[in-house]
Amino acid sequence: MNKLDFNHRPEFGPALADMVDRAIIDGKRKEPVRKYLGGSLIGRECDREIQFMFFHTPPDPGKDFPPHILRTFELGHEFEKILFKYLRQCGFEILTHHGDGRQIGFTQLNARFKGHCDGIVISGPEKVGRKSMRYPQLLEIKTANDSNYKKYEYRGVQKAKPVYYAQMALYLAYMDEHFPGISDGGALFAAVNKNTSELYFEHVPFDVQNAQEMSDRAVHILAACDGGDLLPRVAAKPDDFRCTFCSYSDRCWSFDY
Ligand code: SF4
Repeated sequence: MNKLDFNHRPEFGPALADMVDRAIIDGKRKEPVRKYLGGSLIGRECDREIQFMFFHTPPDPGKDFPPHILRTFELGHEFEKILFKYLRQCGFEILTHHGDGRQIGFTQLNARFKGHCDGIVISGPEKVGRKSMRYPQLLEIKTANDSNYKKYEYRGVQKAKPVYYAQMALYLAYMDEHFPGISDGGALFAAVNKNTSELYFEHVPFDVQNAQEMSDRAVHILAACDGGDLLPRVAAKPDDFRCTFCSYSDRCWSFDY
């Protein structure tokens, strides 16, 4: 009787997983480089961090997104399609692309400031629960780990993730030109809990003041980038929690100013 050898199995799995990881990293390197400031960045707290991102500054050693995080981002995009399907089954009509195949979004400041929307809800039920619905609405979809998901439940998106709130305010302001009345309709914010697949929905009214601040901020940051000015740090010390999570901390604090 042949002796069974199970030892090859542990070698095979990690080797293939490693091949996949390398393919993901290679694919990431080949992606075209963005030549504009993205609307999804503009609500970040630190002006200087946004500058680093605008210039595609390499992250500090060891702070690049590892392959498993890149996979998680991709899963988030796949989830968007799943949620479109569910919402359409509920009677919502959702647009994601123009007739010519371009993703719906805005372009400002001579195409140096751009953003793409997850979707626009064109029509749907007149009421959801006791809430009367107005259309069109902006649709913004995020995935969240359990801890962040609970923050949405307890605090709402404005307090839990101001960066997403700012993104929605800005998009509502700019999309009104293409979808008249969308600023009155507001945004439908959706989040899925990656641990449990629970769904969180929130209606977010248009915040005109926040939109104006974000638009002004984009002008300010692009002007500083054009002028070669490094904008001030958000924090006074490198051990500030925002800096410990930042991908450019070593580089940022290596400057004297
Ligand atoms: S390290 Fe801190 S101050 Fe510097 S760019 Fe990052 S968040 Fe901003």
